Amino acid sequence: MKSTMLIDLHIHTYRYSGCSILDPVDLVRRAEELNLAGFALTEHDYVWTEEEVRELREETGTALVILRGQEVSSPAGHVLVFGCYDRLDRLPARDMLSRVREQGGVAIPSHPFRYGDYALDSLDLLAAQLAEYDGFEALNGNQTDDQNSYGMHAWERLGIAGTGGSDSHEVDMVGRFITEFTGGIQNEADLVAEIKKGRCRPAVLRHARIIHEIIK
Ligand SMILES: [Zn+2]
Ligand SMILES: [Zn+2]
Repeated sequence: MKSTMLIDLHIHTYRYSGCSILDPVDLVRRAEELNLAGFALTEHDYVWTEEEVRELREETGTALVILRGQEVSSPAGHVLVFGCYDRLDRLPARDMLSRVREQGGVAIPSHPFRYGDYALDSLDLLAAQLAEYDGFEALNGNQTDDQNSYGMHAWERLGIAGTGGSDSHEVDMVGRFITEFTGGIQNEADLVAEIKKGRCRPAVLRHARIIHEIIK
């Protein structure tokens, strides 16, 4: 039987996100305690270098999968980007997407419901807004329960890839929301490929029960 992999796809550490108090070593330990398969580092407009990730691995001795991504402060809102390592925040949204495409990456609007600028009956509008992207973050640790509930509602109906991420800025948040993968993920290329195939789902730990509660 193929096991699933649970990965927190949205994490900020204090090393590169001024708004975070999360120590990278504490992050690793907490993710291990929670039995996550791994996590993605998605600092604001900064991508950890491979060398920096290697150092964190050596310092902690962890076997977790650590993925390099970024949360781009795009004029169109925050966007999680994987598989493209350029600085993208000064680009208009369309140019950012072109750059991500050129490099074979994926772009996923983060916490699209956080600011409440959605209407419960506007799934068509949402689908149009998301059409340019590779999916969307349905579950986010900094959205309200109602917003996450709407995220799951939209994900179930739109038929596009959905992710979950804690958006952790402190250790207690780690793993609050996660993305469940059925394919093996060892690196960013695997991650991008699985998201492009839509082989991922937003989840929480003990997801069956908790997602049920969120959706009611
Ligand atoms: Zn954000
Ligand atoms: Zn974030």
